[in-house]
Amino acid sequence: MSRIRSVHPGLWTDERFVCGSMQARLLLIGIWGECDDQGVFEWAPLKLKMRIFPADNIAIADHLNELGQIGLIQSFSADGRNYGAVRNFMKWQRPKSPQAVHPLPDEIASYVGKPEDGGDKPERGTALGKLLWEQQGGLCFYCSEEITYYRKKATSLEIDHRKPLALGGEDSVANLVAACKPCNSLKGALPEAVFRERFAVNDLVANCREKRGSHSANGKFADSERDAKTRDGEATKQMEEEGGRRKDEKKDGGANYAFAGRTIRLNQADFNNWRSRFHAIPDMAAELTALDAWLGKQPDDKRKSWFHQVPGMLNRKHQELLSAAKAEARAGGEMELPIA
Ligand SMILES: [Zn+2]
Repeated sequence: MSRIRSVHPGLWTDERFVCGSMQARLLLIGIWGECDDQGVFEWAPLKLKMRIFPADNIAIADHLNELGQIGLIQSFSADGRNYGAVRNFMKWQRPKSPQAVHPLPDEIASYVGKPEDGGDKPERGTALGKLLWEQQGGLCFYCSEEITYYRKKATSLEIDHRKPLALGGEDSVANLVAACKPCNSLKGALPEAVFRERFAVNDLVANCREKRGSHSANGKFADSERDAKTRDGEATKQMEEEGGRRKDEKKDGGANYAFAGRTIRLNQADFNNWRSRFHAIPDMAAELTALDAWLGKQPDDKRKSWFHQVPGMLNRKHQELLSAAKAEARAGGEMELPIA
């Protein structure tokens, strides 16, 4: 079965590659598709000819030899059959779930660029994943549980779009966060505000721990109340830090807020973010002032989770204003909405 492969732009100027004839170079790229994910293919010239150059009059065996001479492929036999191996194949082709179809003798393993101690070392996540992971202090954006940027672990990070691509969210760093797998799959294609409205942080933490199998061995949200309280405290502390937005606060002792009420405190980035998400609200500062006053009269736990509650309230207001504007427009009047 042939496979899709990617072509690194550096290939065209690779010093071995440029030594080949044009046919040999094209043949090499064709061979990639015939390899298994270790870079091993059957050394069967006629079969390769029919697969890669079905309509050309071409001496395929000569070009295979040519590729061998310039050191881009190597033939070998194993279990009584002839195979070819592509130099450094495994360094450049990284399928998500690699499949080995053909044998790979030890002496060929390094030729195809198989990692020395492959398997033992955890596979690293992406550079972007690491960046987000560091920005968030190694915690999931939604449940504030620890995550690792190594892949293929129960606690590994996934990159989530706060506003899903399907809803017009951008593939930009501002719209991307590191989240744990349980949160990410729970969130699915929901926008952040809806997700936060639907699930309290406590539920997310419980869900997360259950999926990781680390804390509650006995099933759904089954932790003792004491545990729940501890979690509460932890989550709240983390949320407060999140709400206060760590770095700015630490750097300038809290002087750097774009909005600072008694409960609600936002740095410029979060303030801008909320203002553009809820752009139907004409005066965000005034709205926040009103909400801050209201929050001041609420019980402790409600106040402490303000960072997760306020967006929901802003969103309701935003939606009301939008539908009011639509109704107004239908009635023939005009109402201007501030543009994000
Ligand atoms: Zn999470």
